[in-house]
Amino acid sequence: MSATQKTVVVGAGPVGSLAALFAAQRGHEVEVYELRPDLRNPGTIPLNFTKSINLAISERGINAMRSAGHPSLLKTVMTGTIPMRGRMIHGKSPLGDLYEHAQDYDAKGRAIYAIDRSGLNEKLLNVLDSMPNVKLFFNHKLTGADFRARRAWFEARDVDVSPNGRPREIEISFDLMIGADGAHSAVRYHMMKFTRMDYQQEYIDTLWCEFRIEPQEALSHGENGAKFQISQNHLHIWPGRDFMFIAIPSEDGSFTSTLFLPSKQFAELENNPAQLPSFFDQNFPGVTDLIPRESLISSFQSNPHLPLISLKCRPYHYSSSGVIVGDAAHAMVPFYGQGMNAGMEDVRILFSIFDKHNEMLENNNSLVEGHKSSPMSMSSRAEALAEYSDIRAPDAYAINELALQNYVEMRSSVLSMRYRLRKFLEEFMSVNFPNFGWQTKYSRVSFSNQGYSDIVRQSDHQGRILMRVFAACVTGPVATAFLIFGYQYRKPLLSTAAGILGLN
Ligand code: FAD
Repeated sequence: MSATQKTVVVGAGPVGSLAALFAAQRGHEVEVYELRPDLRNPGTIPLNFTKSINLAISERGINAMRSAGHPSLLKTVMTGTIPMRGRMIHGKSPLGDLYEHAQDYDAKGRAIYAIDRSGLNEKLLNVLDSMPNVKLFFNHKLTGADFRARRAWFEARDVDVSPNGRPREIEISFDLMIGADGAHSAVRYHMMKFTRMDYQQEYIDTLWCEFRIEPQEALSHGENGAKFQISQNHLHIWPGRDFMFIAIPSEDGSFTSTLFLPSKQFAELENNPAQLPSFFDQNFPGVTDLIPRESLISSFQSNPHLPLISLKCRPYHYSSSGVIVGDAAHAMVPFYGQGMNAGMEDVRILFSIFDKHNEMLENNNSLVEGHKSSPMSMSSRAEALAEYSDIRAPDAYAINELALQNYVEMRSSVLSMRYRLRKFLEEFMSVNFPNFGWQTKYSRVSFSNQGYSDIVRQSDHQGRILMRVFAACVTGPVATAFLIFGYQYRKPLLSTAAGILGLN
């Protein structure tokens, strides 16, 4: 074993870059290989996105960067982010008036933050560039990996091209490979040949396409001087039963907006894009006042219509030599705003487990006279990776499911009385009875670092209590009324009670 651990990270997206930083902070010799060109070069387009996409970053992503051990990283990354304190639901009243209805995310006023994905990625790459023990290789595509021999092969498409005109292939060695190469991970594909990995994937029947709401020219000025056409401190939602349109603010006053729509309806609009503005008028009232009709059509025609994948697998590692993190391990639909947050949390948890095992090793070795600190042994790294897979898989499975469920919540439940009632009661409990530890599921997911699977258990339990108490409160008066008014009003009373309880 060499004196320093060689850690190879595949994929320089937000999760891979953060993993490289964690490894570098621990003194590893780090090499990062990225398929695409350096996104800091003008004109480079991040995979799958038009030019820049705004994401919601919340506690888990923030905490992971806080834990990275770099003095100014968090401050640099959070500069220019925009707090979003809730959802703004847009709709039209039965009388035809446009309305906006704000729903705060958290009774205590905590916010999630809109962040430019490319900007975040750039800042992480800049930090890596400044570290002497990190080497970045762009235009390098992983084509093969042998996790037993600890060797990997890349197609290098940078400057040199082999004499036959094809990209040259390079071979490298590693102690640990961290696969952060996204939903279609090559690391995962090769690791599957070495470990009995369970794997399951699903494409939901929804595609997405990006639009842009331009900054306002003359009217309201945002707090930071930018001009926003709609409130900059909300994530805007135009719900439709089977689809939705959302908008997330950007620092320059614009909004990155996304249409989520079943594939059949996408196909109908693709065949007749001129119908798009009237489709919007009918389903997303007010949007054509924010995006000119021609821009709606041209964005729809020029921006890609992309699928949404949800994937689960386990374990995430092979022996002491390989591990996958981020979308490579658990790509999820984007409706809880947790994909990147969970990926960054993977990195924090993975390295905290390494640190724990290192510490145990150091404590044991320090008992040996004249002992000098050494890199982690293969056996303790294997133990650490196995522990990581065991701990992380239930949480990754849980957030995957929550993300799928939240699509229903965002596009339709936000309008239902039952949903709003439960939210109100849970927030009332959390503010007025803080000692009971009562919180909404959303608060726990977005504003804490509690395990996702734990949150599901706690929230289900909380929901059952709430519904029982509520049912008792409703059925008591209904039973009394029934006794008083008798048989004549039985049907309407029972149906009202069932309606309130959501049993109709
Ligand atoms: P990626 O960002 O996919 O990066 C993987 C990298 O690996 C890429 O740079 C790729 O070029 C490289 N790569 C791929 N193959 C190879 C190879 N063979 N060799 C070398 N390199 C390779 N998440 C949130 O937390 N909040 C949100 O609000 C949010 N909104 C979203 C909205 C939409 C519409 C979508 C689609 C996703 C959203 N997400 C959100 C999810 C988020 O974008 C992802 O979870 C996040 O980008 C995952 O990061 P990653 O680094 O794991 O993978």
